[in-house]
Amino acid sequence: MEQQTEISLEKEFEKTMTMKQREGKEEQKKKETLPWKLCTICSEEYGEEGDRTPRNLDCGHTLCLGCCKMIVQLNKIQCPFCRVDTQLIGRTVSNLPKNYLALSM
Ligand SMILES: [Zn+2]
Ligand SMILES: [Zn+2]
Repeated sequence: MEQQTEISLEKEFEKTMTMKQREGKEEQKKKETLPWKLCTICSEEYGEEGDRTPRNLDCGHTLCLGCCKMIVQLNKIQCPFCRVDTQLIGRTVSNLPKNYLALSM
């Protein structure tokens, strides 16, 4: 009987340890988000759909769609990094080219 209790305790301990290890790994993953996968303005990770899609401005800088919408002017976006205008005549921020590079890396 005594031996059995010991074994189950050991198993319980192992379970707790692996759970803790897993939690640690997941935390590490979050910290490992690469800096170029984050929008510099809102610090959100880029996504493949919606407001988090990375968009290329004419100057070559990248912003997420949500931030483009925030800073868009009448028919242009002024880059918050280098102040170069991206003209939006005949298109909207949603038409800006997606930066697939930022997603695939
Ligand atoms: Zn953003
Ligand atoms: Zn720029």
